Amino acid sequence: MTPTAFAPRIEQNQHARSEPERAAILENPGFGNHFTDHMFLAEWTPDHGWHDARVVPYGPLSLDPATAVLHYAQEIFEGLKAYGHADGSVWLFRPDANGERLQRSAHRLALPELPLEWFLGSVRALIETDRAWVPRGEEKSLYLRPFMFASEAFLGVRPSQHVTYSVIASPAGAYFTGGIKPVSIWLSEQYSRAGAGGTGAAKCGGNYAASLLPQQEAAAEGCAQVAFLDAVEHRWVEELGGMNLYFVQADGSIVTPELSGSILEGVTRDSILRLAAELGHQVVERKVSIDEWREGAADGTITEVFACGTAAVVTPVGTLKWRGGEVTAGDGGLGKVTAEIRQALVDIQYGRAEDRFGWMTRVL
Ligand SMILES: *Cc1c(COP(=O)(O)O)cnc(C)c1O
Repeated sequence: MTPTAFAPRIEQNQHARSEPERAAILENPGFGNHFTDHMFLAEWTPDHGWHDARVVPYGPLSLDPATAVLHYAQEIFEGLKAYGHADGSVWLFRPDANGERLQRSAHRLALPELPLEWFLGSVRALIETDRAWVPRGEEKSLYLRPFMFASEAFLGVRPSQHVTYSVIASPAGAYFTGGIKPVSIWLSEQYSRAGAGGTGAAKCGGNYAASLLPQQEAAAEGCAQVAFLDAVEHRWVEELGGMNLYFVQADGSIVTPELSGSILEGVTRDSILRLAAELGHQVVERKVSIDEWREGAADGTITEVFACGTAAVVTPVGTLKWRGGEVTAGDGGLGKVTAEIRQALVDIQYGRAEDRFGWMTRVL
């Protein structure tokens, strides 16, 4: 079927927040607490393909109790940010990479692929409509959450014949307030996030549902995040619940676990591969065992550990804890290489450094 041309209908919100209400929210938005005045929606059916693209007032969706996603979790999502630059312009960071990943996730979850033109168009249309919601200032951004779910009311187990795609937007403050502080990590030895042939490489809600119990365990152990190992040997470091991992070696090289099919292909992870090389580091993708982390952090072979993802960009990892022990890489503070990579990345995102890699797309 030839895809329908992307031409969204725009319905303005007659009850949009007032200027002072919006300003109060943008002053200190936090993360994921507040949503803009509009949302994007589109529908897919086998007969009509993608259709009914629309920007409408933000509000609840009405779902039949038999809606497939509520029972079988056929759902995927994306996360990207719009950055307000000092000259007033608004930019996206590698949105094509998010659009392509949404297509790969869709394939794995037996959902229909959304054309890239629709992905970029939907994000643009929402930002244009809610342009006043792009926060300005130090490391603030408008977080965009595209998502797609099985919206057919049917309890049979098969791919849904009605699929809904939506984008919502949420102003986000600086992830770290009062300085960048290392997080502590709990090593999950009982639970895995993903297995070979499973959905680990897809950005689907179900992966997150499965990570909540180990995340609770981490919190009970006083840790901020949980690290997962491979599901077969329980030996190879994969990633955190929602961030990829990097290890800085004493010789200045940096290592990240190779994509195994069960690791999420982070856009930030991929960008750092190229950025760190440009900064003169040797960058290696290979298997990293949990013993290498424990022993390397203890004997100084590993000097820094950091996690990366769109929300927090680059987060230093301090202590790794497990049942019966703990180890801290370096001095447990923000490492030099971690800080250098983080700065180089946010400088590109906020337009303070030249866009050498062609990563930025202007929206406004
Ligand atoms: C989204 C996500 C990441 C980070 O990906 P980015 O594209 O860099 O934001 C890492 N791991 C998991 C499990 C994720 O869902």
